[in-house]
Amino acid sequence: MAKLTVSDLDVKSKKVLIRVDFNVPIKGGVIGNDNRMVAALPTINYVTENGGKAILFSHLGRIKTEDDKKELSLRPVAEHLAELLNKPVTFVPETRGAQLEDAINNMEDGDVLVVENTRFEDLDGKKESGNDPELGKYWASLGDVFVNDAFGTAHRSHASNVGISEAMKAEGKKAAAGYLLEKEIQFLGNAVDDPKTPFVAILGGAKVSDKIGVINHLLGKADKVIVGGGMTYTFYAAKGIKIGNSLVEEDKIELAKEIMEKAGDKLVLPVDNVVATEFNNDAPSQVAEGDIPDGYMALDIGPKSVQLFKDTLADAKTVVWNGPMGVFEMSNFAKGTLEVGKFLGTLSDATTIVGGGDSTAAVQQLGVADKLTHISTGGGASLEYLEGKTLPGIAAVSDK
Ligand code: AMP
Repeated sequence: MAKLTVSDLDVKSKKVLIRVDFNVPIKGGVIGNDNRMVAALPTINYVTENGGKAILFSHLGRIKTEDDKKELSLRPVAEHLAELLNKPVTFVPETRGAQLEDAINNMEDGDVLVVENTRFEDLDGKKESGNDPELGKYWASLGDVFVNDAFGTAHRSHASNVGISEAMKAEGKKAAAGYLLEKEIQFLGNAVDDPKTPFVAILGGAKVSDKIGVINHLLGKADKVIVGGGMTYTFYAAKGIKIGNSLVEEDKIELAKEIMEKAGDKLVLPVDNVVATEFNNDAPSQVAEGDIPDGYMALDIGPKSVQLFKDTLADAKTVVWNGPMGVFEMSNFAKGTLEVGKFLGTLSDATTIVGGGDSTAAVQQLGVADKLTHISTGGGASLEYLEGKTLPGIAAVSDK
């Protein structure tokens, strides 16, 4: 059933609680990439332009000690938001209590307020991350309606997303999806469940065990599933190809065999690799076709694999990419990942969707991000979506 969205709400003079994902990289109070903040602006603007009071909740990093609180306050994020919105933003350095309640009661229509990092509540028995029902209920009591726009956290059941939604609904109030959440569901959902074909998925990254659910699910949906990165070599081992010192998950070799049998020629593996003597950017390296020589480990896909992957992608109408093709962090082993990213930028007739930190970094580094259809703001959440799982943050939103 379709979910209620922010544009279905009358927000005039309402206290609108919005869960955003402002979990941005931050060092010494300076914000790195602010993409996630920019992605949340349409929802915030909708609420303020329609006379609502926008009360924003987000987590930032992980809070395990009192000391973590110093580095992980949302104050600099609230200050940056004021610049992005070009209007004042009130920051409340508390997650509950009189100061927060007074600040909310003093808001005028169109005002924006940022509540302190929701994970400050984790110091007291993981109340946020453990979805403590009293906390969700308390936060829900601060507003008239709730909007969840935090896709990056949608695969988690926390007090600030699922807890508030459930408490709102229990009180007969509404919980809606924000524009970003709606956009993510629309792009990822259409790609997987109603793709224009051929639909090609590219999955990379270190471990088969992390991606097994996604590979299995997408084999049932896609025309081709390209596999690259460290998990390739567990498949190689299953095929009887020598892997030298490459990454392997011995306990997943049987599973890799089963997947290959089921997949037939749907599964596309690298045919050559850049191999090195050590896990080090400066280690002597060469290209190896097929078997990986003794004393070497595969750290990137080779040129023939890049060509094979390009050929496989050439007539695709839908492409979903998650995970690097090699050790992308080391410049000498980044080429496979960069080549795939560059090629996706040329597929102007296809819907191209990228998720996950390394693949997103690759397309941004290449400057092709704006040529792609959608860059997901949620790594873990997009993977779980591609795995066909129900994301609790989305499930908790009211139906239309
Ligand atoms: P993931 O978090 O599963 O998406 O995996 C990303 C990590 O996989 C990155 O840190 C890469 O350096 C690593 N990776 C990719 N290819 C390889 C490889 N051939 N050998 C070792 N690690 C790899």
